[in-house]
Amino acid sequence: MTNLDPRSLIAMAGFMAALMAVVLYFMRRYYPPSIQGIGYWTAAPLMWLVATVLFSGRGAFPDLLSLVAANTLLLLGTIAYYIGCRRFLGHGGGWRLWGGIAALSALLFTWLTYGHPNYPLRLGIFTVLMIGVYAANLRFLLRHGGKRFPVRLVEVVLVLHVAVLLVRLASTLVGKAGSDLMEPSLYQTLYVGAYVLTVLMLSIGAVLMATDRLTTELQHLATHDALTHTLNRRALLERFEDELARCARTGRGPAMMMLDLDHFKTVNDTQGHQHGDAVLVHFVQRTQAVLRRADRLGRYGGEEFMVLLPETSAQDAQAVAQRIHAAATSGHALDCQLSIGVTTWHGPGDTLDAMLARADKALYQAKAQGRNQTCAA
Ligand code: GH3
Ligand code: MG
Ligand code: MG
Repeated sequence: MTNLDPRSLIAMAGFMAALMAVVLYFMRRYYPPSIQGIGYWTAAPLMWLVATVLFSGRGAFPDLLSLVAANTLLLLGTIAYYIGCRRFLGHGGGWRLWGGIAALSALLFTWLTYGHPNYPLRLGIFTVLMIGVYAANLRFLLRHGGKRFPVRLVEVVLVLHVAVLLVRLASTLVGKAGSDLMEPSLYQTLYVGAYVLTVLMLSIGAVLMATDRLTTELQHLATHDALTHTLNRRALLERFEDELARCARTGRGPAMMMLDLDHFKTVNDTQGHQHGDAVLVHFVQRTQAVLRRADRLGRYGGEEFMVLLPETSAQDAQAVAQRIHAAATSGHALDCQLSIGVTTWHGPGDTLDAMLARADKALYQAKAQGRNQTCAA
């Protein structure tokens, strides 16, 4: 079997790393700052790139650069990738331990290059350290990364790379590591080839993770109210439409509730707009706590809200309304009173517009009868 020349493979890894660093750099610039970690993910392929250049200069550069600095940068890039994953998932830390280990390993590599030259030992130690960082990264993602595809992809890449590193470690232990990285042996080819793929796949994984987060954030912005974080009007009405399409098949329709805070203008006028905002947020939290799992609260606009109660009778909707009245007036400084209009599904001929008109009418009635009460229509 002819083995690929490690030098060409290493040049390819450098090329991939450069490309991915450029992609990640622009993502860092143009993605919202709420998506953390992209800076570290950009630094990782950059360090791998410099490491690659240094490795390739073997013979031309002094060993301090082409061995010690190159290995240390490779390790540091891998650490930067791990820290990027931590920041991305909202975790601090990581540098003190792994930065310390990288500094110590730089000293050790220097000694094993100049003081006591020993290629297999150097290789063994370096491989163990790399396995350590990848394993820490993998453990972290398995614990905190969730189940979305981009994270799963990175986890698979990490597992495969750890496996390759274990083979490399074993080959070192049985004395088959060769005497030099540039030797075109089977193990070197396997290792350097896996390294090229890992550089590419980890960077792609980072791009996918950040993009997945961006999509989620944009989706949230498009469907949720910025102040109270409940569904906005459009999203809630869409869910109503879905529910009406569904109940045409099941025969069990939803109830609709329109809620309007009483004399809210007075709250703003006497206690200020900010206090008014806090009342709205408090009201949403209290209401959400008394709703059932399948119920959906949304902000219809201003101080008006709407609740979708799937498969709910008029009687059950009344009970929910009473719970909301009680939760909104529990003795808290941000309490408020409200009026509620309720309606239920009238059967297959009923429409969203008709339900909205009935709920609105019931709400108007509750206001007209003195507020702080629920009416049905
Ligand atoms: P009613 O009992 O008849 O419902 O009287 P009301 O004062 O609640 O009704 P009105 O429609 O006259 O006033 C609603 C007020 O809600 C006016 C508006 O300034 C206030 N409002 C709407 N959106 C917000 C918001 O996001 N924050 C705050 N603080 N106030 C808001
Ligand atoms: Mg009002
Ligand atoms: Mg109103």
